[in-house]
Amino acid sequence: MHELLPVFERINLAHFDGFLDLPRLSWNSRLRSSAGRFIPGSRRFPLERVPTIEVASYLLEESAAAALIEDTIAHEMIHYWLWVRRRPYGHTGEFLQKMREMGVSRYNPVPRKRPFKYIYRCGFCETDFPARRKLGPLACARCCKQHSQGRYDARFKLFLHRKVETAEAL
Ligand SMILES: [Zn+2]
Ligand SMILES: [Zn+2]
Repeated sequence: MHELLPVFERINLAHFDGFLDLPRLSWNSRLRSSAGRFIPGSRRFPLERVPTIEVASYLLEESAAAALIEDTIAHEMIHYWLWVRRRPYGHTGEFLQKMREMGVSRYNPVPRKRPFKYIYRCGFCETDFPARRKLGPLACARCCKQHSQGRYDARFKLFLHRKVETAEAL
């Protein structure tokens, strides 16, 4: 399997002056919504919960796997770098500036190309939720937030609106 560590070390030297300590680096075969993710560690118990960078295994199936993996690790390393420096570590202005400096091409790493099979809908606000699998009893997060203090409310339960017949692009 593709090694994550050498990629991390190369980017660390090239763009962070070797400043970043080695996080936990791992593949995640269940990660589908994004190509990677950064999970912050615990500041109080740094040895028990180390910061983690995960890379979605499906990238290995892509034709440009090496470049995508590199981009994904670079992207997650910016989150990590902001977190280490106790900065807000989302996609902030600082994040974007660092990304431009590094020449990382993607704002959001490529999502999985696997097609959506189902379209669920919130009957209240009529928002559609494409899904790759059948969903359990889920409610529309936005409606629950707006109308029931963020608690689950059956009024906003998502219903299966239709099945996607062909591989529609979404
Ligand atoms: Zn990100
Ligand atoms: Zn809704």
